[in-house]
Amino acid sequence: MRRVLVTGGGSGIGRAVARAFAAAGDHVTITGRRLEALQETAQGFDMDCHSADVTDEAQVQALFDTPYDVVIANAGGGVAGKLRGLTLENWNATLAVNMTGTFLIFREALHGMTAGGRLIAMASTASLKGGAAIPAYAAAKHGVLGLVRSVALDVASKGITCNAVCPGFVETDLAEAAISAVSKRFDLDRDAALAQVVSDNPMGRLIAPDEVVAAVMFLASPYASMVNGHALSVSGGEI
Ligand code: NAD
Repeated sequence: MRRVLVTGGGSGIGRAVARAFAAAGDHVTITGRRLEALQETAQGFDMDCHSADVTDEAQVQALFDTPYDVVIANAGGGVAGKLRGLTLENWNATLAVNMTGTFLIFREALHGMTAGGRLIAMASTASLKGGAAIPAYAAAKHGVLGLVRSVALDVASKGITCNAVCPGFVETDLAEAAISAVSKRFDLDRDAALAQVVSDNPMGRLIAPDEVVAAVMFLASPYASMVNGHALSVSGGEI
């Protein structure tokens, strides 16, 4: 039985990923800042829940008493806003959760991780292209990909892989917040705002969390043993 850790497991993509690994028979630990949300994810599944903020070094270190086989750095997010209106506080917070959080999780995960181990970052299409209204988020997600590509070279000789999944807009609270922001900014109803949000995706719809789960499961599987330092776009052809 593999030991799997998922950060940001209390909602959205992290919740779907955690439940998929548990349903496949792996031993899953989820972590996040709100214990209640984690317990909701775990309902009906055999999962361990540990509250931890991925930007806090000591709290991250405490998650790794026993090594994991698969570690998914999924916690992340950020607020939309163009450069001129971006506060230093928002910039720092966005880099902290996406980039520093992934750094701390991967660094601690390597203690005791053995051949066959898998490090997977939840990056974004914003790791591969910019966006006028997401300078901090795009910078942070580009940083995540730089980290992934570098760690991949470091761990390759140990039989461990490190990869990134890069989704476009996925049907979660994060996408819902983006739709609301567009709706408010351009005075559009929800359908028109949704159409604008998905306009970059050639398939013209939000991505289902399970479509992201499939990419994560592939990268964690023996089928992906030679896939390393890769950015796997799950975006209907946006990238
Ligand atoms: P979400 O907001 O539901 O999930 C983010 C999770 O991270 C939440 O559970 C949140 O509590 C947790 N989190 C935030 N800050 C944290 C911290 N400091 N410590 C621990 N946990 C923290 O949104 P989601 O869409 O499920 O996002 C999951 C990941 O996917 C994120 O990294 C996000 O950037 C990425 N992503 C999302 C989309 C999308 O359209 N939804 C697209 C591309 C990438």
